[in-house]
Amino acid sequence: MIKLSKSFVGNAEIKEVTKVLKKGFLGMGTKTHHFESILSRYFNKHVACVANGTAAIQLALQAHDIKKGDEVIVSTLTFVATFQAISALGAKPVPCDIDNEDLTITSNFIEKKITKKTKAIIPVHFGGHVGKLSEIYQIAKKYNLIVIEDAAHAFGSVYKKKLIGSFGDTVCFSFDGIKNLTSGEGGCIVSKDKQFINRIKAIRKLSLVERKNHIHNFDVFEQGWRYHMSDIMAAVGIAQFRRFDNMKKKRQELAKKYDLYLSNNSKIKVYKRNYDQIVPHIYLIKLKQADKANSIRKELLKKKIETGLHYFPSHLYTFYKSNKNILKNAESIYKYHITLPLHPSLTFKNIENISQKLLNILNK
Ligand SMILES: *Cc1c(COP(=O)(O)O)cnc(C)c1O
Repeated sequence: MIKLSKSFVGNAEIKEVTKVLKKGFLGMGTKTHHFESILSRYFNKHVACVANGTAAIQLALQAHDIKKGDEVIVSTLTFVATFQAISALGAKPVPCDIDNEDLTITSNFIEKKITKKTKAIIPVHFGGHVGKLSEIYQIAKKYNLIVIEDAAHAFGSVYKKKLIGSFGDTVCFSFDGIKNLTSGEGGCIVSKDKQFINRIKAIRKLSLVERKNHIHNFDVFEQGWRYHMSDIMAAVGIAQFRRFDNMKKKRQELAKKYDLYLSNNSKIKVYKRNYDQIVPHIYLIKLKQADKANSIRKELLKKKIETGLHYFPSHLYTFYKSNKNILKNAESIYKYHITLPLHPSLTFKNIENISQKLLNILNK
């Protein structure tokens, strides 16, 4: 079976994790701090590592004082995690429609959603592609809104010659097992604001703040969570980071191969992306006929090729549903999408085979 996605781990990760296990301290300690300093150097920013990408977004929102009653504009074409992180704080995720080419939110859609209660915008760098991010920062500036980038797909991606995470307000990554870089589970928040990152470092561990020369060693000033990273996770992340360049190039080359086999076909559309700039987390095709997606996916599965759907629009889930939100592009486009396998352990031959089988089914 060719899996849709897969963790790319081996001896390097086993060796690093073994060191932590032998040391006998598995919680958050020197390894996590080392991983943070590696990431901090990579982005040239302050970094806090946390339990997962969802926690990263939630803590970023909390440390920006987003609370009950506040509205956060968010791309609906995302993993529901982005919505959950907002509603976890009692704030309201306000779903935003996407551009049909970039698959990301744009300023015209965002502007329609701004109210007096709007506090923040969360763009999602879909598949590692960033879309029109500078437009989003412009509109945020105009209305005095915070931007929190959901960069869960975009570790290593470059936008206008700058690494994602090396600029911008607040940038959140996921190190989930199948993301561009993994620490098993995990995630991080990146910011230029040291105080902001320090606040997150407190909140991620039950908001315990050290008090010097006091009978109690700690005090608590706000709601906290147990969302810190463990040294076992950090060990995996450190080993991954050392070979990230190879993993990144492999993802880029595999996506280019798909482009080579699948472009110029009358039955499907391939999204034009610059794979020298972005690190693709997923590879999508768009069918010309929506009603065909399910049967094609079933046929591919019979041929031992697993596929996915990224994404069912989050505002259509029962918990987030409201009659007010009609987002034409997102509500239509997902029906045309199939995500093909993409992970660094695939070979170019695999990509040729998957493409061939897909084309055979389409040409039947
Ligand atoms: C994976 C992902 C998240 C959440 O990250 P986790 O580490 O799984 O919690 C958030 N947003 C997007 C777009 C994701 O793909």
